[in-house]
Amino acid sequence: MYIKALVLDNFKSFGRKTKIPFYEDFTVITGPNGSGKSNIIDAVLFALGLARTRGIRAEKLTDLIYNPGHDDSDNSGGPREATVEVILDNSDKTLTRSQVVNAAGSEDVGDVDEIRIRRRVKETEDNYYSYYYLNDRAVNLSDIQDLLAQAGVTPEGYNVVMQGDVTEIINMTPHARREIIDEIAGVAEFDAKKEDAFEE
Ligand code: ATP
Ligand code: MG
Repeated sequence: MYIKALVLDNFKSFGRKTKIPFYEDFTVITGPNGSGKSNIIDAVLFALGLARTRGIRAEKLTDLIYNPGHDDSDNSGGPREATVEVILDNSDKTLTRSQVVNAAGSEDVGDVDEIRIRRRVKETEDNYYSYYYLNDRAVNLSDIQDLLAQAGVTPEGYNVVMQGDVTEIINMTPHARREIIDEIAGVAEFDAKKEDAFEE
């Protein structure tokens, strides 16, 4: 399974609906400073519900909505709503149809060779709302997280390596580094279960 494309609509610096395709093996994004490269990573974290743990660069969710006057802090006009959709290629059947149906709470998920996870944040005068969709069915964050966990994508995982993570790994003690390797290898989960069992 891999990210096939990303659709950003009114998200951060992407004021116009923008579809970004990705290759299966390796994709590099280049561009001048401030052109929006890191905003693309933020979009993935936002849409997959990984934002809180993996350090998205925004103080509040509504800062993620495109603001035409972002740089001169003139907060005027425009719809206060942003949407990001992550389109996953699941043609290798990393996730089964029944796993997707289960998460969506509906049989009506279409062809699961393509899994689309969409998140929308909407700001009203005195509040904001956040919505998740799985193949166009409204779901909760926990549904998305449970589904992604079955494909090995977790908020605590290292599917996304942020700026500074590599330096941190180099500078940590051998024991702490071992814990990360255990986490990635999936051993940590069993260690935790073993500990729980001993406690009982
Ligand atoms: P660098 O090479 O310096 O890391 P980058 O390509 O990663 O740059 P980003 O950090 O992705 O750049 O983009 C920063 C730009 O996004 C800034 O110009 C900032 O004004 C703009 N930006 C951030 N949030 C918003 C927003 N809500 N509305 C409009 N523009 C925004
Ligand atoms: Mg950057």
